[in-house]
Amino acid sequence: MQEILDAIIAGASGEVRRLPVPDCYRGVTLHADEVAMFDGVASRDKDPRKSLHLDQVATPEPAAGEVLVAVMASGINHNTVWSSIFEPLPTFGFLSRYGKASPQGARHDLPYHVLGSDLAGVVVRCGEGVTPWRPGDEVVAHCLSVELHHPDGHADTMLDPEQRIWGFETNFGGLAELALVKANQLMPKPGHLTWEEAAASGLVNSTAYRQLVSANGARLKQGDTVLIWGASGGLGSYATQLVLNGGATPVCVVSSPEKAEVCRRIGAELIIDRAAEGYRFWKDEHTQDQREWRRFGARVRELTGGQDPDIVFEHPGRETFGASVYVARRGGTIVSCASTSGFEHTYDNRYLWMHLKRIVGTHFANYREAWEANRLIAQGRIHPTLSEVVPLEQTAHAVHLVHRNLHQGKVGVLCLAPREGLGVRAPELRARHETAINRFRSGRVPAGD
Ligand code: NAP
Repeated sequence: MQEILDAIIAGASGEVRRLPVPDCYRGVTLHADEVAMFDGVASRDKDPRKSLHLDQVATPEPAAGEVLVAVMASGINHNTVWSSIFEPLPTFGFLSRYGKASPQGARHDLPYHVLGSDLAGVVVRCGEGVTPWRPGDEVVAHCLSVELHHPDGHADTMLDPEQRIWGFETNFGGLAELALVKANQLMPKPGHLTWEEAAASGLVNSTAYRQLVSANGARLKQGDTVLIWGASGGLGSYATQLVLNGGATPVCVVSSPEKAEVCRRIGAELIIDRAAEGYRFWKDEHTQDQREWRRFGARVRELTGGQDPDIVFEHPGRETFGASVYVARRGGTIVSCASTSGFEHTYDNRYLWMHLKRIVGTHFANYREAWEANRLIAQGRIHPTLSEVVPLEQTAHAVHLVHRNLHQGKVGVLCLAPREGLGVRAPELRARHETAINRFRSGRVPAGD
């Protein structure tokens, strides 16, 4: 592996085609025989530092249409939090179902699961029939894995019945020194970014792009007002940028002054600190408090000069969904991609039908949407929102911080890259965007509890 790394760091990535690929590599794993380890433990107390391991695993051979990538950097996504606490279900069920689907899928059904759904790195080997990419190409990967044997996936690849999220519903993910992807997951690495910056955006930026901008999502327009929950977090820090970039106005909801500052650095002006204002949307486990919805809606109007949100960017789920449906404007859209606080939502349907609102469900992004989202990064219109970068050995600690909501933006992981700051191939473009890149990176996560 060292020879491969030396070639990449020397700026001679093309040399990797001549170098041997090791039989095994280090990856962040879960173990199938440990899925019951948190039985009876409350979600919040399930500790990813106990379930995540850094193991040597066997290098898979790329099959037809697949590519083996030397991973320079990756990042923490919330799906690794879910995997690590075995909620809502252990991910080994996904691997077992994939295993039954085809001989290629069977390779993924292992007693360990290498996690991670983002990477920046270098192609080292291509399977049969891979034409657009060659060993030596510097790439990022989006996490949509599809088979496309069924007609349903051909208008929108997210509708493929065999659609999976790589590194969550498949094995050989990006929190590792090597990763196995389908060739159509690859996109050019933006040349002005370091490895860790380039690896930060793929999953969340693509998801926020489909959720907000795409015709498959909320169809953001210039002039719209957009309420963004968790606006300094992974999805939210990209949603805030997409809204500003699209000529619309974000209303950012966060839970601390530090997180509010992250949004300000991105360029948002209208910010609600939900912790400081003490919203309690639920009186008890079964009853929501509509007075609190109204108090929240009044605060939004106060900030916007009387505008209700055209779009509500939803992902907290149960805790906030009733308020989200309430505050959206007449004819507005509530667009949801997740349920972090609980997936059984309740809301007052009178506010939906009488005010002609729409609830739209959305999930990751199709290949085209992921490509367009990556193009915005490559053009320097959207920037990575890294707050901290850790070595591969500290991945479990970083996942723990994200689980406890102690992070800001994205947390990066150095896989093969020995230090931050490597991999910039377009210094002039970087110089043009350096100030913004550094401003967006300036948040820091706490050392941990
Ligand atoms: P993240 O980086 O942890 O950020 C989530 C933000 O949500 C936090 O910063 C927090 O902000 C806010 N939040 C958490 N609990 C909340 C609550 N009870 N009420 C209001 N706000 C709350 O995670 P992420 O990457 O943005 O992902 C968010 C969710 O979307 C996760 O569940 C993830 O699995 C899911 N997701 C789904 C897809 C998909 O394709 N379907 C893609 C990406 C992510 P404050 O504390 O500052 O308010």
